[in-house]
Amino acid sequence: TEKLHIIGGGMAGSEAAWQAAEAGVDVVIHEMRPKVETFAHRTGNLAEMVCSNSFRSDDDEQNAVGLLHWEMRKANGLIMGMADKHKLPAGGALAVDRDPFAQSVTDALHAHPRVSVEAGEITELPSDGHWIIATGPLTSQGLGKAIQAETGADALAFFDAIAPIVYTESINMDVAWFQSRYDKGETEEERTAYLNCPMSKEQYDAFIDALLAADKKEFHEGETAGYFDGCLPIEVMAERGRDTLRFGPMKPVGLTNAHDPENKPYAVVQLRRDNALGTLLNIVGFQTKMKYGAQTEVLRMIPGLEEASFARLGGIHRNTFINSPTLLDAEMRLKSKPNIRFAGQITGVEGYVESAAMGLLAGRFAAAEILGKPVPDLPQDTAMGALVHHITGGADAKTFQPMNVNFGLFRPVDGLKSGRRGRKDRYKAYTDRAKTAWCDWLGNEAPAPKQEAEDA
Ligand code: FAD
Repeated sequence: TEKLHIIGGGMAGSEAAWQAAEAGVDVVIHEMRPKVETFAHRTGNLAEMVCSNSFRSDDDEQNAVGLLHWEMRKANGLIMGMADKHKLPAGGALAVDRDPFAQSVTDALHAHPRVSVEAGEITELPSDGHWIIATGPLTSQGLGKAIQAETGADALAFFDAIAPIVYTESINMDVAWFQSRYDKGETEEERTAYLNCPMSKEQYDAFIDALLAADKKEFHEGETAGYFDGCLPIEVMAERGRDTLRFGPMKPVGLTNAHDPENKPYAVVQLRRDNALGTLLNIVGFQTKMKYGAQTEVLRMIPGLEEASFARLGGIHRNTFINSPTLLDAEMRLKSKPNIRFAGQITGVEGYVESAAMGLLAGRFAAAEILGKPVPDLPQDTAMGALVHHITGGADAKTFQPMNVNFGLFRPVDGLKSGRRGRKDRYKAYTDRAKTAWCDWLGNEAPAPKQEAEDA
């Protein structure tokens, strides 16, 4: 059979290699480190954790990333297996002893009879053979240019400018209202595409003061070199003048406050649908370098968002990622060159766990294709399925930004209470449904649903 070549031996590339090799395919990993370095990696190991040592929540009943852990464990995931082996005490989170973790992933892949590792940077897009590109947020410049030449400049970003994303259900609709500026749009849906949060002068002044005073993160050394093209954080706009935001993303024009039509707002914060389900909204133009704690506090000063829950907070980082919704098919193949798949953070997922998860899928899809054993459609009600569906089709391509796994990506379960009160039951229903669907897909036996203590 043909070999599978994987560019990048990070979280995604390592997992993809393991999955394909275990399925019976010979794999070559092409990894540029330690020959060529990035500003964040420090070793030559595969699967190096570049920053925090946390895989986040391990709760597989109430947390979407915990569910992703569960699904990867069920699929014999190498990254999860080694994370469990080198787990550190951290309450409900899965914290990992980073060096032995990366070393053990490296050793397991080197020891695998079907895996070889070739050191060196790849700078061209391969024209034939089976390939997975998993070069991550710090994809080398040469390869980045080659990808851009194939996809077009607009479809590959070197930075993410992430506006915070809010769960629609957590917004106070007694204050906010849906309306597009000047009621523009052909359809009712277009005319109500934005959610508006009005501010009085006092509220705006207090918001600007808090924004200026908030704790901010710095760029890493080397992070902006040669790339940063000025997607300005809101706090930088505020520093340029107290009214800059009011004449920018917060301009109050073309809108009538449905709750108080007589009073014109002094400024308006707009949110826009972030997924087809309408369960997530992003705050338009609100990329920020505020630290997460400060960010939550400042954003909850926005009228209507006092009790907002965030699916993800804002940020600006060096991050190479492609516009997956337009470029990739449902099996993560590049539509214009289907011999190439993409996996990991470069597909527009965010985080170690999500990146490894997309590697797991790409490795399985590629192996199945090489072995001529097609896989059934991936169920969308799994964490894996929800995430890959989001990046390859569910997300709005025009505003596409990297995404963490979260329950906002899941299709609703019928007959459950909405709102905060019903959340615990809803999340349990999502995770039960996902586990059964994932086991079906893998061909494993599904877990017996756990009885709640009070039912037992
Ligand atoms: P990586 O793990 O980065 O792997 C990509 C690999 O490809 C690297 O080994 C690289 O050397 C190699 N490579 C690149 N270009 C080439 C080439 N042309 N030829 C050959 N090899 C190449 N996520 C979290 O969950 N928590 C965090 O705290 C966190 N902090 C981060 C901090 C920084 C500064 C950055 C940049 C990212 C951070 N992330 C964090 C995101 C994190 O990088 C990803 O979640 C994860 O490592 C991505 O996995 P990946 O496999 O897609 O990429």
